[in-house]
Amino acid sequence: MIVVKSSAELERMRCSGRMVAEVLETLRSKVAPGMTTLELDRYAENQCKKWKAKPAFKGYGGFPYTICASPNDRVVHGFPNADPLLDGDIISIDFGLIYDGFYGDSAVTLAVGEVDSEVQKLLDVTLQSLEDGIFAALVGGRLSDISQAVQLCAEAHGYGVVREFVGHGIGRALHEDPQIPNYGPAGRGPQLKPGMTLAIEPMINSGTPAVKVLEDGWTAVTLDGGMSAHFEHTVAVTENGPEILTKL
Ligand code: MG
Ligand code: MG
Repeated sequence: MIVVKSSAELERMRCSGRMVAEVLETLRSKVAPGMTTLELDRYAENQCKKWKAKPAFKGYGGFPYTICASPNDRVVHGFPNADPLLDGDIISIDFGLIYDGFYGDSAVTLAVGEVDSEVQKLLDVTLQSLEDGIFAALVGGRLSDISQAVQLCAEAHGYGVVREFVGHGIGRALHEDPQIPNYGPAGRGPQLKPGMTLAIEPMINSGTPAVKVLEDGWTAVTLDGGMSAHFEHTVAVTENGPEILTKL
């Protein structure tokens, strides 16, 4: 069942969304060669403590950290660690929290120092595929309009759209109905209504879509060893068009 939020609930989701965006913005400013993802994780966790917010992922299904940190060929759900980021790496950071009863969830993939132009293009196209997906979150449209918009953008550049992980409804729970695949024909699934809140999150591989999960039971990597990027926003469907909640 898809939970439609009232305007008062949306206001509370704007608040948690802004907090998520603020943390990610600070993490963005800290990413540089030599920084470790464990330090980024500590910062995010401390900021949650200061705000009396609860990290969304820590403890979720046993996930042990506040952020997911997935460099290079890691697709999603990577564990932060003490390895310094290197010039030319990319790093996907996924972060969520719950505050005042509502979740926000967002992810970015960042270049560490200077990355080559092919890698930068993967980041640019993945972000564009998220924007195209958000733009399709229109009242009266269908859920899979979002899916198709993401897929068309990514595949137009020859990239692989990950199938195993999908976007999701979000609100009082981190993962609510509906699931939002990043592929498939438009015009299917539930009709989009004002007050639906959706975490749209394309995961795009430079090569084939195939992924596997490592022995830690969490970290997803590309099967072909190519790079992977991930961007995510929590978005409200409104009469005035899609509204990004995880923004400053
Ligand atoms: Mg996320
Ligand atoms: Mg998510």
